[in-house]
Amino acid sequence: MAVNRELAEQKEIFAAYLKKKKLKITRQRQVILDNFLKTEGHLSTEELYNQVRQKDRTIGYATVSRTMKALTDAGLAREIDLGDSRSRFEPLYKRPHHHHIICVECQKAIEFLSPELEQLQEQVVSRYRFRPLRHHFQVFGVCEDCQEHRPVRLEDFDSDLVFARDALRIALQTERNGVNFYQALATAAKDPRGKKAFLDMAAEEGKHLRELEGEWDALIKRNKRILKAPEFLHFDYNELNRLFPSPEELQKRGVERLSLEEALHLALSMEQGAHSFFKRYAERFNDTRGKSIFQKFAEEELEHCDLIQQECDRLLGPSNPSSPA
Ligand SMILES: [Zn+2]
Ligand SMILES: [Zn+2]
Ligand SMILES: [Zn+2]
Repeated sequence: MAVNRELAEQKEIFAAYLKKKKLKITRQRQVILDNFLKTEGHLSTEELYNQVRQKDRTIGYATVSRTMKALTDAGLAREIDLGDSRSRFEPLYKRPHHHHIICVECQKAIEFLSPELEQLQEQVVSRYRFRPLRHHFQVFGVCEDCQEHRPVRLEDFDSDLVFARDALRIALQTERNGVNFYQALATAAKDPRGKKAFLDMAAEEGKHLRELEGEWDALIKRNKRILKAPEFLHFDYNELNRLFPSPEELQKRGVERLSLEEALHLALSMEQGAHSFFKRYAERFNDTRGKSIFQKFAEEELEHCDLIQQECDRLLGPSNPSSPA
């Protein structure tokens, strides 16, 4: 559910929209707006109508339908087709762009986002010199529960919270890889100055790891239910192993034969790679909690770059040409 500040922002947007259209903010419109903004998932006009009728018997179906069209027009809702020929809407404001996998029997909709899929679409579209405005991607099928004739679990989740959960998971995994990477470099280092530098970096990554774990705990404590939500952000975890090679991979690359200079340069290029990867990654998303998690993470990786650069200057001399491009 959107936080209070976001609820207020959306109400302001809707008020401004109504004013522009010379329409009044009636009590009925207010009730419909409040109900819609507080829902998660994909609400049909009928479902919303039934909800608001419990609060105000004077609200008619046509008013609900017109208000939803207005909310869509104002950019606060998106109409979606779950293949059941009902008009359905989902909140749009500060929600991550996503796609749906829809069960044609129970109408359950699983939401997902795959940056690889987005990139592929962009490539194809740009080949036609097309300027894309929006797109939908829906897969219709039969869910696991319906295939097995099990009772259906219909649950809706706030896509932004689930996106934030998945973003934190990726950041946590990257930090863990970072700690392991520096510990492996420290173990392999012959030069005591190098050993110390890498242990310090492992401690630094460990500090960030604990901060991220704190964020994770806070997110989950407030929203225990989202642990049950299916994976939303489909991420290629192999990418993380390219950013910070595992201790086994380092072994294969002959890490213990690296000179101090080579080891520092390896660390620097890994940090730079991680920074630019997460910076570019964050740019793909619209304004959401998940995006800001990735942005903040990219900034932290930049701090690590600076720390390694300082070690390079200190241990190899300031003339050493390893400054980030
Ligand atoms: Zn189903
Ligand atoms: Zn959705
Ligand atoms: Zn898309």
